Amino acid sequence: MRFTVLASGSKGNTTLIETQGGKYLIDAGLSAKKTVQLLTQNQITIEQIQGIFVTHEHGDHVAGIRVLCDRYGVPIYIHEQTFVALKENHRPKTQERVFFIDAGEHEIGPFKVEAFPLSHDVAFMLGYTFTAQNKKVVYVTDSGYVNQNLDGKLANADAYIFETNHDPEMVRMSGYPFSVQQRILSDVGHLSNEDSARTLARLIGPRTKHVILAHLSQENNTPDLAMLTVERIFEQLGIQNHLKLLVAKQEQSLPTLQL
Ligand SMILES: [Zn+2]
Ligand SMILES: [Zn+2]
Repeated sequence: MRFTVLASGSKGNTTLIETQGGKYLIDAGLSAKKTVQLLTQNQITIEQIQGIFVTHEHGDHVAGIRVLCDRYGVPIYIHEQTFVALKENHRPKTQERVFFIDAGEHEIGPFKVEAFPLSHDVAFMLGYTFTAQNKKVVYVTDSGYVNQNLDGKLANADAYIFETNHDPEMVRMSGYPFSVQQRILSDVGHLSNEDSARTLARLIGPRTKHVILAHLSQENNTPDLAMLTVERIFEQLGIQNHLKLLVAKQEQSLPTLQL
């Protein structure tokens, strides 16, 4: 199994996940045109994509799905409440290629896909785990916190793509209206660098090879700050440094990581 974080951040998120006989996207928050371009750079055509797993209805996760589904025929896997909550310009018209997915385990192509609820101010927020060939990838973004009762499902994966959205002090110093600051910092907002590090510290195990810090705020975080905060907390908590930490970018895809 391998994966490529093609773009990550508040302007658009999309990740390619592949195993033998399966190529899927997690979210398509850039335009369809840009998504096709990024895939082409990875020698993949849009026709090879067998589906898009949607996490929630915010534009930075779904801006491309209507065109990718209607024009290119890519199937969409989405929670029913998320589908209903989509803006008109994001909602595919060809509903025969839209498949409703609920929290729980699903066999989709060569993957065992487990969808699980997260905490965000939307109709329904899903995180995902993808398992194939004895490897597991966990995908968590856009969540105020991660409930400890998920730890059993998420522990000791081979790779984590995990939100480190903001530094709380930068949010408080930002020019954002107070209500927006409160929303970001709330239980239905986004994971801070520190919360993310503490959550990851609960989850990572001897199998974990890669941790990708994702969905960084452009205004309220920097790649260096996210990385340093996570490293500092891992060190404090005695997490051994056998794993590779990378920060996902908005404007530049990460290299493909093989598990
Ligand atoms: Zn969101
Ligand atoms: Zn988002």
